[in-house]
Amino acid sequence: MPPTAIYALFALVFGMVAGSFLNVCICRMPKDESVVSPPSHCPRCSYQIKWYDNIPLLSYLLLRGKCRGCGTHISLQYPLVELINGILTLLLFLRFGLTLDFAALFLFCSALVVITFIDIEHQIIPDEISLPGIVIGFALSFYLNGHGWLDSIIGILLGGGTLYLVAFGYHRLTGKEGMGGGDIKLLAMMGAFLGWKAVPFIIFTSSLTGSLVGVSIMLLKKKDSKLAIPFGPYLAFGALLYIFYGQPLIRWYLNFGGFNKG
Ligand SMILES: [Zn+2]
Repeated sequence: MPPTAIYALFALVFGMVAGSFLNVCICRMPKDESVVSPPSHCPRCSYQIKWYDNIPLLSYLLLRGKCRGCGTHISLQYPLVELINGILTLLLFLRFGLTLDFAALFLFCSALVVITFIDIEHQIIPDEISLPGIVIGFALSFYLNGHGWLDSIIGILLGGGTLYLVAFGYHRLTGKEGMGGGDIKLLAMMGAFLGWKAVPFIIFTSSLTGSLVGVSIMLLKKKDSKLAIPFGPYLAFGALLYIFYGQPLIRWYLNFGGFNKG
């Protein structure tokens, strides 16, 4: 195998192993439990999971999705998170190589995976991720290629500020809480990591996909009740889209709208 293929394979496996840890975060953070101790165990029979039962993806397949101790069904979340994080890490490696940008975006995307799964299940976005994320994203902006620290600061203010205004306006108009405070801090973290130019892109794409999915669900379920769909996953999708296709999509959009002619 050529060296690049070996590195790519390493990135995939590394991402999946990290995914194992993300699974622990997804399960324990909403319960305010420590993510480092005690060691992983079956929630039903407390069987302590051995290293050979903890090999990403493979163990789940070998155990056919059941606990070795009691045979309880293991949630599909475990292999899914490992696979998604492995593929994301591989894609980041193929795009950025072994650079500091890769390391920073690896951290960022791992955080998005955890946030997405927690938000879908519990409708919360843990401050333990988004608040340190804002600080870390800003600190890293001094060393990254994409944008500088000023872009990062404006990103934090724009990300946090825009959603805050939307939430404030929605609340004033309807008297209801529409957007959670967690979404506001998450978008601020995205601005910190990706710079301010990412913020309007993420708001636009996440609103668009969120509306499309929301309308589809309403049509399928044939009712127009206001669904409590968490917004975090759409923001995460928008951020990933920006990382991999942001520049060409923005160019295409501006051309399409005729802004770039002449
Ligand atoms: Zn068990």
